[in-house]
Amino acid sequence: MYQSTRDSGVSVSSAQAITQGISADGGLFVPESLPQLTLEELKGMLGLSYVERAKAVLSKYLTDFTEEELDACVSGAYASGKFDDKSVAPLAQVGPGVYMLELWHGPTCAFKDMALQLLPFLLTTASKKTVGDKTIVILVATSGDTGKAALEGFKDVAGTKILVFYPQDGVSPMQKLQMTTQEGGNVGVCAIQGNFDDAQTGVKAIFTDEGVTKKLGEHGMLFSSANSINWGRLVPQIVYYISAYCDLVKEGKVPLGDPVNVTVPTGNFGNILAAYYAKRMGLPVKKLICASNSNNVLTDFLKTGVYDRNRPFYTTISPSMDILISSNLERLLYDLSGRDDGKIRGYMQSLKETGRYEVDEEMKEKLSALFCAGFCDDAATKETIGEAFRARGYLCDTHTAVALHVYEQYVAGTGDKTPTLIASTASPFKFSSSVLDAVAKEDVSQLDEFAKVAELSKCAKVDAPAALASLKDKPVRFTDVCTKDSMEQVVLSMLGIN
Ligand SMILES: *Cc1c(COP(=O)(O)O)cnc(C)c1O
Repeated sequence: MYQSTRDSGVSVSSAQAITQGISADGGLFVPESLPQLTLEELKGMLGLSYVERAKAVLSKYLTDFTEEELDACVSGAYASGKFDDKSVAPLAQVGPGVYMLELWHGPTCAFKDMALQLLPFLLTTASKKTVGDKTIVILVATSGDTGKAALEGFKDVAGTKILVFYPQDGVSPMQKLQMTTQEGGNVGVCAIQGNFDDAQTGVKAIFTDEGVTKKLGEHGMLFSSANSINWGRLVPQIVYYISAYCDLVKEGKVPLGDPVNVTVPTGNFGNILAAYYAKRMGLPVKKLICASNSNNVLTDFLKTGVYDRNRPFYTTISPSMDILISSNLERLLYDLSGRDDGKIRGYMQSLKETGRYEVDEEMKEKLSALFCAGFCDDAATKETIGEAFRARGYLCDTHTAVALHVYEQYVAGTGDKTPTLIASTASPFKFSSSVLDAVAKEDVSQLDEFAKVAELSKCAKVDAPAALASLKDKPVRFTDVCTKDSMEQVVLSMLGIN
């Protein structure tokens, strides 16, 4: 069963948690205990495909789904040819003991596909169990990549509608085009005058607004979330850390049972939280290295125990990490506090009222035993892209470069040479402009977005993903912009119930 981080008395099935997205008390759903994975079980997974490994992991969490249901969900997501690599999430070695875990081989070229190709299957299966045939309305706040991945996952899925809000000036040109050209009869996209935090706060408020939810109910509709506040987004992410470890063991790179470190470029704390859960299940993970860009609220938090969002918000070249309120941290704190819902309510209340909270000494000690943290600015990000390309022969995107830089800082500071998985979270072509800037020998500032894609492809001698190159010829369908106070109105009018 699943509890709420703000009320441990809540007890719902996984189907209910996934259908609802967020608990009515504003808390996030978490499993009441974490299932365990023995070394013996890991050994048994070595010979399995990604699809089979996914099924094995998911079945430990989604215990109210039947085997047939899980089979259909996992095969539909990962075995239907939507990923351009057979192994779904391949590893690329970029140094002695350093492995890029490439999570961007799905249809929208960012790691969000790993979860968002699966979520529509999980959600429609879950909602049939819990609410019958109501229409599920997915509201999404995006810092760039979730929006497109969710649109692509849910487009024309029967019984669903999806509406995405993105910060008007906070996404890359490619990210924006991916969303504004989205096809499908059940989709909507709207820019907001504000940043990601405004979009996320607005969406969360609409979800829990009684007036709005009542109105939806009268029309046979129900909200859910495709953001990483939804448990159905997190559980697929646990799979790839376990699967990557199996790959390392299988290839003889790491003896079964030996530890690895994991480095994750972090924004909303979903991806790194999944790595933490994998560790808690028993995966041999030593340190979790949390990498941030100039919006380094998490770096400070993990170093000092003080979470303080009262600071400038920077728009960076790694926009999917331009976030000052990392929602999923709440799940970590809940777990580390021994499931003390009162404590979590206190922290979150304080965050809401003052933008700040400080955890107690015991929690600080636990955090520093588990995590290391660092950040890097745009200049260092570009240097790292150039360096990695020249010295390691690896072309990485801006987010992955932040992780690589922070990993290098970590090794320089600690001398820790434990084999490391670095989450490579987006195709470099998704951020062609910044990446090309970092690797090109000539001035490329005059080229348009698609000329940059072509130039980058030439320069790196790799083909650009077809899904990005083909955007050039697609008509723009969505041009609406709203203020953060009018999001509710936009939702109601898109649904035709205002
Ligand atoms: C979303 C995203 C991140 C941040 O992941 P979180 O789970 O929000 O911490 C990092 N890199 C890319 C490319 C992303 O799209």
